[in-house]
Amino acid sequence: MEGIPILEGKYPVTMDIWPIEIKEFNRIYPFYENLKAGRFTTTKCKKCGHVAYPPRVICPECYSDELEYIDLPLTGKVITFVEQARGVPLGFEAPLVHAWIDLGEKSPVKRLLTRIIKCPAGTLKEGDTVRFTVFPVPAHLLDVKREVKSIERVFFGFEQVNRPDVAPKP
Ligand SMILES: [Zn+2]
Repeated sequence: MEGIPILEGKYPVTMDIWPIEIKEFNRIYPFYENLKAGRFTTTKCKKCGHVAYPPRVICPECYSDELEYIDLPLTGKVITFVEQARGVPLGFEAPLVHAWIDLGEKSPVKRLLTRIIKCPAGTLKEGDTVRFTVFPVPAHLLDVKREVKSIERVFFGFEQVNRPDVAPKP
């Protein structure tokens, strides 16, 4: 899968909705490499200990660039959410669901905003447990010595642990 399917290969760069994740373009590329390994990570400052989310290249507290990647929990609980049924942006499927989730008191990042994917309309509830998941997104095309190379990419979201559409019937 390359580019945004609905555009049939046209405007692959100007209409690209996903980050360019490779080392040559992106200074938080370890975040994406960790995603490919199934890890959900962010940056912690080695100088002052501040944990930032999303990951940074410079600590927002002390401006040090000595940061390390630390793991975040892979499950959370939905605090509140919004479900968009119509008019979702190009490249996304309806319903488009965004939630504030609670990663727990022990997590270095307590709460964050995330997409909930594979979520049938009207099924998500406050308090539901959701789990981290990584999925492939359209590859990024890159010109390398007059050759167009395809760079694989992934992105992440959370999904319901007990999805109603796959739950066993009582
Ligand atoms: Zn710092």
